[in-house]
Amino acid sequence: MSDKSAVKSMEEFVAWAKRRGVIWQSSEIYGGLGSSYDYGPVGVEMKNRLKAAWWKTMVQERDDIVGLDSAIILNPKVWEASGHTDSFTDPLVEDLVTQKRYRLDQLKDQTKSPDGNPLSEPKSFNLLFKTFIGPVEDSQSVAYLRGETCQGIFVNFKQIYEVSRQKIPFGIAQIGKSFRNEITPGNFTYRTREFEQMEMEFFVKPDEADKWYQKWIDARLEWYVSLGVKRENLRLYKHPKADLAHYSKGTTDIEYKFPWGWGELEGIANRGDFDLAAHQKHSGKDMSVFDEETKTKFIPWVIEPAGGVDRALLAILLDSWQHFEKGRKADGEAETLLSITPKLAAYDAAVLPLVKKEPLVKVAKELVQKLRSQGKNVFYDESGSIGRRYRRQDEIGTPFCYTVDFETVEVGDNKNTVTVRHRDTMEQERIALESL
Ligand code: ATP
Repeated sequence: MSDKSAVKSMEEFVAWAKRRGVIWQSSEIYGGLGSSYDYGPVGVEMKNRLKAAWWKTMVQERDDIVGLDSAIILNPKVWEASGHTDSFTDPLVEDLVTQKRYRLDQLKDQTKSPDGNPLSEPKSFNLLFKTFIGPVEDSQSVAYLRGETCQGIFVNFKQIYEVSRQKIPFGIAQIGKSFRNEITPGNFTYRTREFEQMEMEFFVKPDEADKWYQKWIDARLEWYVSLGVKRENLRLYKHPKADLAHYSKGTTDIEYKFPWGWGELEGIANRGDFDLAAHQKHSGKDMSVFDEETKTKFIPWVIEPAGGVDRALLAILLDSWQHFEKGRKADGEAETLLSITPKLAAYDAAVLPLVKKEPLVKVAKELVQKLRSQGKNVFYDESGSIGRRYRRQDEIGTPFCYTVDFETVEVGDNKNTVTVRHRDTMEQERIALESL
């Protein structure tokens, strides 16, 4: 194989993502919007599959976790109880010369700006997005777009406990959009103001919290590896006690080695009884459950694996992406290969008539119908040279191309067979249409 490069700088990768319909800047015709991104025809398929994979592992394959889809705009009292209106803040500082803004905790040298200028005094900047409900914009009508999906889970805990026939330990999972007015968004989809979270709150007896905390760290790390993230690009970062959020009894982040350095994909936290106790106090509703063994009531503790859909997909794409300057066989044009796990590829297969002629087109379209009826997502492409069509599929990670050629339709040994081309090896073999 020729000189291949994985992602070293983001530039080429970002250009590929746009060119191939994966991800691009939002509202581009108006010059875009800072750190807002849209997922194109290929990207949305991958993102949907990633969310479905999480849902399958976390909810559908287990007896002890149920799902939820709660509202984005909750009663503002939820965010008072959770502490978000007071303390969901980042320390904001301004370069006194350039007026550029920074998050103080993200500056290597906190005494001056990266340009070497003096900084303003830090101000607490609240990350919640404010909005107003109804026609009047006053303090009575203030509401917030959710800053995390888990509060929707906590406020529904008792309701779900009662209707789902679950017993402690059990979990509630949710995927959905969250909003944070980040001071310094950036690094493509890594930090945006609107993003999607996959969060699961696992409610346990206090004396079993440590055991479940460790179990979830192990299980979540394994999940990323199972979706093609390279183990050597993952590490666990255990937060030192002094840095823990006030409610946390322990937090471990799963970090990925992004081209710009290590960054969090998911945090696993032992939140104790902080959330349910806070909502019990503020709402006046009992959040405790009855322990049959000890005949006492208690507020469950929570172990929370909280990940981001956008960051997970970004890591998976980065680890699957390779560029070959002189082509994979070192004899031609530059090529890009996305060796994404077939589970997350936008298309299960592409069906290509060798040339746009009957009866090849008819047979190819019949094959498309057949594969679709089996639940496969199939891309049909009939124009352009076959080599180019293969390369286009390689670039978006389609694992197989089925080519209908003259041998498929002519009398002979290969009648009713098609060529299967494998994305990663470029190997081709003939198989019977029947067997597909
Ligand atoms: P960070 O320290 O990077 O700001 P966080 O620790 O505040 O993240 P959590 O509140 O633990 O993040 O949220 C859980 C997950 O949600 C994160 O691990 C990340 O994958 C995702 N996430 C959080 N903030 C953003 C963001 N601004 N853009 C994209 N994804 C995000």
